[in-house]
Amino acid sequence: MNVAGHWDVVIAGGRIAGAATAWALAPYAERILVVDASRADTFWAQQSTWDRAGNQEWDELGLLDTVLACGAPRTFGHDFRTGNDVVEHHYPQVDDYGFRMSVPREVLDPALMQTAESRGNVTVVRPARVRDVALRNGRVTGATVRTAYGDQPVTSDLLVLADGRRSRNATDLGARPYRTVRSPWVAMLAYYEDLPLPTDRAYFSMSGGSILIATPCGRNQWCIASDVHFEVHGSTGEHPAAAYARLVNEEPLLGPAVARGRRTTAVAGAGRLWMLRRPMTGPGWALVGDSGYHLDPVTAQGTRAALATTRLLRDRVTAHGQIAGLDLDGLTGERDAALDEAWDETEQVCHRRSSL
Ligand SMILES: Cc1cc2nc3c(=O)[nH]c(=O)nc-3n(C[C@H](O)[C@H](O)[C@H](O)COP(=O)(O)OP(=O)(O)OC[C@H]3O[C@@H](n4cnc5c(N)ncnc54)[C@H](O)[C@@H]3O)c2cc1C
Repeated sequence: MNVAGHWDVVIAGGRIAGAATAWALAPYAERILVVDASRADTFWAQQSTWDRAGNQEWDELGLLDTVLACGAPRTFGHDFRTGNDVVEHHYPQVDDYGFRMSVPREVLDPALMQTAESRGNVTVVRPARVRDVALRNGRVTGATVRTAYGDQPVTSDLLVLADGRRSRNATDLGARPYRTVRSPWVAMLAYYEDLPLPTDRAYFSMSGGSILIATPCGRNQWCIASDVHFEVHGSTGEHPAAAYARLVNEEPLLGPAVARGRRTTAVAGAGRLWMLRRPMTGPGWALVGDSGYHLDPVTAQGTRAALATTRLLRDRVTAHGQIAGLDLDGLTGERDAALDEAWDETEQVCHRRSSL
């Protein structure tokens, strides 16, 4: 596809943050280009679970119906096991948002992109890569889109980097992280079918240095995730996937459950990641999602934070009425104020020793 030319908005990255931003900015643009480096059918281990605050963000962006249509059950509470004690938690039902959801990324990401494309002025190219951001007088004016067929120059009124926590483009722009903290946690997960577990409740189980979380995430489908402190792996030399299998098998409820059900994916995950905050905007550019604000997966706040950054950008565009000539000053402060508690939680879990 020939994408060379001018676009109101060019978005690097087409997952949660990129797709939500394309959807949110489309009413203010003539045409938007989304470029994603990965193939549409390629996924890696990243969960997406959120709580009441996440539901509110989806609704703020007009995407809650899309998310609910993904078919994951809503959970209205969870059981929390510590040793032999199990405590039941019920989520307050003060409004329509009092539930948690977990949607596999294989379902969520395409649904979001399909909704964005339904605007009619959003074009998606993948696999393709945004690189070599172009600047004139310190302002971003476009970039190069690298596809299998060669490089194509594009210009834009706004370049949005939704290209994840390892954003090379953010680094090239000089958007240096001004807060960082390294996570001691290794997060692993796998999906299962046919588990004899409730479909309206999640299950948390904590034991020395690790936590297991089982959440229903589709029709007859569950995600079981583990967060294990690196000191635990370090002291035993056990591979994270082996530790995951051992923890699940030994857990009093989950062990018998997985023996009766079926694991449908490999065990995979990520660990010891750097958490960071970068400036959210500069002349002609904005960072949304993990590229500018990366929270520890243990906190399960990444999705909510990605949506919050998209909403802040959308609100700025709404106030201005159009993309061209947008004043992006002050958005970093607004974002940091909005997500302060989430960052504090990330710092707390990152400074924790192995005994939870
Ligand atoms: C193991 C694990 C478990 C997690 N669990 C949870 C959870 O339970 N709840 C929660 O809320 N969050 C969780 N998270 C965090 C959550 O996955 C992220 O916050 C979320 O994926 C951020 O979305 P994003 O769109 O910003 O970035 P990403 O999902 O990383 O997407 C970035 C996209 O940009 C593309 N890209 C990269 N470079 C370029 C380029 N140059 N040009 C074009 N495209 C490019 C990539 O191919 C990718 O598709 C977890 C993360 C991990 C790793």
